[in-house]
Order: sequence, then C-alpha cells, then structure tokens
Amino acid sequence: MILPVAIVTLAGTGPDLRRDLDAANLIWGNDCEVWIEIVDTIVVNRPELLVLSQEDCRGVGHVVSDEEDELFAIGRDLGSDVVGYYIQSSSSSDSLLGCAAHPPGRRGFWVRHDTTLDFVWAHELGHVVGDNPHIPDSDNLMHSGSLPSTNLPLDLNEEQCRRIVNDPALLSVESIALNL
Ligand SMILES: [Zn+2]
Repeated sequence: MILPVAIVTLAGTGPDLRRDLDAANLIWGNDCEVWIEIVDTIVVNRPELLVLSQEDCRGVGHVVSDEEDELFAIGRDLGSDVVGYYIQSSSSSDSLLGCAAHPPGRRGFWVRHDTTLDFVWAHELGHVVGDNPHIPDSDNLMHSGSLPSTNLPLDLNEEQCRRIVNDPALLSVESIALNL
C-alpha cells in the first residue's frame, strides 16, 4: 500500500528528506508493506515559525498554539492529508526532536531539521498515521525518546502495522486504479 505525504520545509532549515524517507521506508516498507511516497515538497519563507511556539506536545488534550495553527495551515493543497514540516526547533523544549500533535482535522507532524537520528521522521509519522502511542520496547520505532534505541533498524509490530494499514490516509493499489 502507498502512503502519500506532502513536505513543507521552512526556509532557513537544511533537512535531508532523502535520508529520512529512506529510513522510514526501510521500517514501514519491510515491516508493514506500506511505502511512503512524497507527493510534493515546497519551501516557504516564514521566519517567525522557525522556532515554533508551542504550549505542549500531547497526543490527547493538546492545546493548539497560534503558531501551530499557522504552520499546519501550510501545504494543505499539495495532494495529501498528511503533511510533514521541517522547522528549527520548538519553544516548549530544546530536546524535542519532533512532535505529532496537530490542530484537529489537519493531520501532520514536525521534525527538527538538524536531528542526527534518521528515524525521528518515521516515528512522528507513526503517531499521525495509525495513531500509534509510545510503547516500552527500545527495539520498536514507537518507543519513547527517553529510552536509547536498540537493534537498529527499529521495528513496527503487527498491531502497529494493522493500525497503519487501516488508516484512511493509505491508498490501496485498487483504489489508485479506480481513480485513473
Ligand atoms: Zn513520540
């Protein structure tokens, strides 16, 4: 199955999308047979959003800040319901490498452009698509950032794959064919 994702890069960042996408497809593709396809990428000049003002990064009960509201409005016309954003950092915590909390109905996540960990992008995407929570398994992609990772590449388990495959963001080959 194919998962279409759009990318918005803030001018002033220098992410390595190819690295992040390759790392994500190694895990999502091999474990779940879900392949992430970038439908479009844009660069936008919004210097005021580079250091994103956030109240919190909670999956449940998240308070959407004004700047999150602005960021997650960008790129909604690129051809995917799921948009990944590259920013510099978050005001809420310097150690936060990414965050999947987003305004209702505007699915997406942000990651720091300079993280040395190639699986952060895939991890945040896993919170959005399949709505996967953290689990206490350091071999797993969805482990909390407070644990060091073990046995790279990280894994997605069967339950996580089931949640991902059932997500409405995924396109099956059949539905792509019907749309042609
Ligand atoms: Zn997480």
